[in-house]
This record gives sequence, structure tokens and C-alpha cells, in this order.
Amino acid sequence: MQTSDRAPPPPVRGLQRLHRYLGARVTRVAVLAGRHPLAVGALGSLLALGAFALTLVTLAAGRQDALDHARDTSRSVISMLSNDVQHNFELADLSLQAVAAGLRDPLVMQLDPNIRHKVLFDRTSTAHEISAVSALDANGNVVEYGAGTPPKANLADRDYFYVHQQSRDLGLYFSKPFHSRLRGGASSIALSRRIDHADGSFAGVAAIAISLDYFQQVLDKLEVSPHGISMIVRADGTIVARSPQITSSTRFLMVRSAPFLRLLQGESGSFSAVSPIDGITRLYTFARIPGTPLIAVIAPAEQDVLAEWQRRSEIVGASALLVSGTFIVVIWLLAFALRDRGAMQSRLEHMAQTDSLTGLNNRRALDRVLLTEWQRMQRTGRELSVLFIDADHFKRYNDQHGHALGDLALQRIAAALARHLRRPGDTVARYGGEEFVAVLPDTDERGALNVAEAIRRDIEVCHSIDAKRRIPAVTVSIGCGTARQGRDTSLDAFMRRADAALYVAKTSGRNRVAAAGAANL
Ligand code: GH3
Ligand code: MG
Ligand code: MG
Repeated sequence: MQTSDRAPPPPVRGLQRLHRYLGARVTRVAVLAGRHPLAVGALGSLLALGAFALTLVTLAAGRQDALDHARDTSRSVISMLSNDVQHNFELADLSLQAVAAGLRDPLVMQLDPNIRHKVLFDRTSTAHEISAVSALDANGNVVEYGAGTPPKANLADRDYFYVHQQSRDLGLYFSKPFHSRLRGGASSIALSRRIDHADGSFAGVAAIAISLDYFQQVLDKLEVSPHGISMIVRADGTIVARSPQITSSTRFLMVRSAPFLRLLQGESGSFSAVSPIDGITRLYTFARIPGTPLIAVIAPAEQDVLAEWQRRSEIVGASALLVSGTFIVVIWLLAFALRDRGAMQSRLEHMAQTDSLTGLNNRRALDRVLLTEWQRMQRTGRELSVLFIDADHFKRYNDQHGHALGDLALQRIAAALARHLRRPGDTVARYGGEEFVAVLPDTDERGALNVAEAIRRDIEVCHSIDAKRRIPAVTVSIGCGTARQGRDTSLDAFMRRADAALYVAKTSGRNRVAAAGAANL
């Protein structure tokens, strides 16, 4: 097998290129950030606040989720409760129908009372919640009793008796709660069916009393929430059972309250309301138990439902606040550091180009400006002028008045120069010692001479530094040169020409302006 001689390109080169590319990007971003440090701070803060707001929105959605979940749980608890109650009611109704059928059967009625009792109530024993099965005759007297010998009692005043007396086709009737006379006042509700004679006339009622303890037990077994409640209510507003149990006075208070009245409307629903009894906000979910006039209500307390969410929100919210806050503080510290660094850098840059005594540009800055303007003149063809300004007899001035006053005089000359050279593009610099140079782009010889003369006169007549301090008179001589395309071979030659003009001004008596002669071509 032959192997290729050519080595594959080293993977390092690709990495290097990527590294260089990324490096360039990072540098550009860093430069941009250094130029706009406050924008960096603002953008960082905005991002942090955005992230924090997003966290809050998510947490708020979590609250709704917790409430929705509680509602779903309540619904399934209600459905379980309904099934349980419905199932027992079906068993009770079966017993009732058996008793009613037996009572209508002449054969059964002819049996010996003991055997008849067995036949009639045989099937009722299965439903243990049934407190008592009884049969009433057309006048409401108890004629048969599941628990033993029929007691001597008339129950014609009970709703489960007279509703059937008054109406033929009620079918299964669910009574209002009552205190049982046959069972020592035990609270019960009754399920009842009408018994007819063969001709259809009213023969009496078969009824099963169901102890309210049964409903209470069913409710007590449910675990709603530490501060929650459960309730079974009749559609007409009578409370069948409530867990935890309540006294009759609070019951009175409750049945008049708005949330309670809302429970009685519609087949099912959900709402949150403040309890009139204990002031706790609960999430009420209710539904009618099918085939009955009963309504099942499950109402966990909002504080229980939201407890876990609240705990989580506090931790997450506090952490998010801490992280965002720290981020904002750090980003601003960074922004201020960048700003300070930027300010320091421009101060240094400024210092590097400024003369400390006069505040004018220094020689280094002058050289740069001169070169730029020289090139611009070559490109555009417009004229470029320079002024060489030199203090007259300044050595003597220093000797006579002292170096400190000499410095003040230089500052005054600088101020006068700055005052006269204000056009955009004009540059004035301290060339060294008591010599200054002004660069005047786009200026012909006549213009330059005018400016020079104005400067000379100004310095000659004005001896005050400010309102209080005055200095001994000082004068300047100015050499003026103007360059034009094709006139000077180089910047150096041009500058020499201007310097020569200064020399002319000096030798011809000082305190005057002289124009440079033509270039030696
Ligand atoms: P001329 O009219 O021919 O220019 O005479 P001059 O004395 O001004 O010229 P010369 O070049 O002989 O002397 C310049 C003097 O300027 C020498 C120095 O004492 C003084 N000088 C230069 N720099 C400073 C400065 O920063 N402060 C002060 N007070 N004097 C300065
Ligand atoms: Mg001088
Ligand atoms: Mg000099």
C-alpha cells in the first residue's frame, strides 16, 4: 500500500486563523466599549433587568399553574366523592325498590310477619350506611321497620312522605335533613319512593333514612388542605355536612354569604372567595352529584395551595435579584473604570501633544499637523501658510525682569496667538523656547500677512495678563511663508524659507512682519 507523500495541512493553522479572527472581533468590541462606557453600563443593566423581569414573569406563571393544579385536584376529589355517594345511593334505592315491590305483592303481604320482615328487608342489610328502612301507610303511620318491630309513629309531616302523597311521579326523592324521631334524633336525610295500590291510588311510602354521619365521615376522610374545607350542600341551600364541622351560628352566617350562594348556581364551577367565617381566601370548586339534588364542594385555602410556590418564588426571586443586582453593580464598576481609563488616556494623549507652560500644541503635535497639511496642500492645490513668531530680545527681557515674568510674557503671547488663530484648521504651537509656529491651511500670503500683522500689533500694545496683572512690554517678530503646489520641493525647504523670513524681520529692526521670498527653484 502506498502512502501519500504530501502531509495534510497542519490543523494548527486553521486554529490560528480562528484565534486571530476572534481576537480581532474581541478587540473591536473592547475598543467600542472603551469609547462608550456608559452605553456598556446601560446595556448591561438593561440585560440584567430583562433577565430579572423574565424570572418574575415565569414565577407569576407558576402561581397560576399552582392554582390550576389545585383546581384539577379538587375536581378529581369531587368526582371520587360523587362516585362514592352515588354508589351508596344506588344501593339504597335498590333496597327501597325491593321493599316497595314486596309491599305491593299480595303474596308477600300474606306471609307471617316475621318471615315477611325477612323477605322485605333481606337486601337492605348490605348498605351499612343505611340507618333505617321503613314503610309508611297512606296516612303516614309506620307499618314496617327494618330494624325490628315497627314503632308507633306517624311521619305524615315529613317532606319525604307528603311529596309522594301530593304527586304520583316523583320517583326517587331526596329529603331535607331532619332529626330522626325513630332513632333518638339522629340527623339524617331520607331517600323515599311512593307505593301505589293496584288501581294507582296512594298506598304509602318506602323510605330509607341515611345518617348525616355517613356524609361527615366521607368528608372527614378527604385531605383537602390544612386550612381547606369540604362540604355537601342540598341545592336549596341546606348544609348536609361540612368538614371541619361548624356550629349552627356560623352555619347561619355562611348560608347568607355571597360565595355560598354562588355554589348553588350552575352544575359545576370554580371561583376563589373570602370565607365569611374565618376570612381565609379559598379556591372553591363545586359540582352537582349526578342524579341527586346534592352539591359537593372542595375548597382548599389559597395560602396552602400557594405555600410551596411562594417558598420557591422567594428563593428564586431573591437569587435572581442578587445575581441581577450584582451584575448591574459589576457592569457599572466596569463602565466607570472604562470611562476613567478613557479619560486618563485622552488626558495622556493631550499631555503628550501639549506644551505645559502655554497650553498650546507642542513640537511633536506641530510636526504631525504640518505633515498632514503639507500633504493636503499637495492634493488639493490650495495654498498653505505658516508663521514663525519669535519674541524680541527675550534673553534681555529675562535678565531685566526675571525668568518668572518671562514665563508670564510667553503665556501672554500664547494667549494672543490663540485668540487670533481661531479658524477651523488653524493650529498654533510652541516651537521651542520663545519661538512659536502657526499653521494656516487654505490661506494665501496676503491673508497670512494680515493675521501676522494683527498678532504683532496686539502683542505690542496689550501688556495685561488679566485685569490685575500687567507685565513689561514685549514685542514679536514674525516670518511668514506661503506654500503652493510646485513651489517648494519639500516641507523642510518650505519651513526653511519661512524661518528665513523671520530672520529678515529680525535683522530689519524687529517688532515687524516679513514675507518669505520666492523659493529657490
Ligand atoms: P532675538 O530678538 O534675536 O530673538 O533675541 P533673543 O534674546 O530673544 O534670542 P535668543 O535666542 O538669544 O534668546 C532666547 C531667550 O529666550 C533665551 C532664554 O533665556 C529665553 N527663553 C527660552 N525659553 C524660555 C522660557 O521657557 N521661559 C523664559 N522665561 N525664557 C525663555
Ligand atoms: Mg527671540
Ligand atoms: Mg529665538
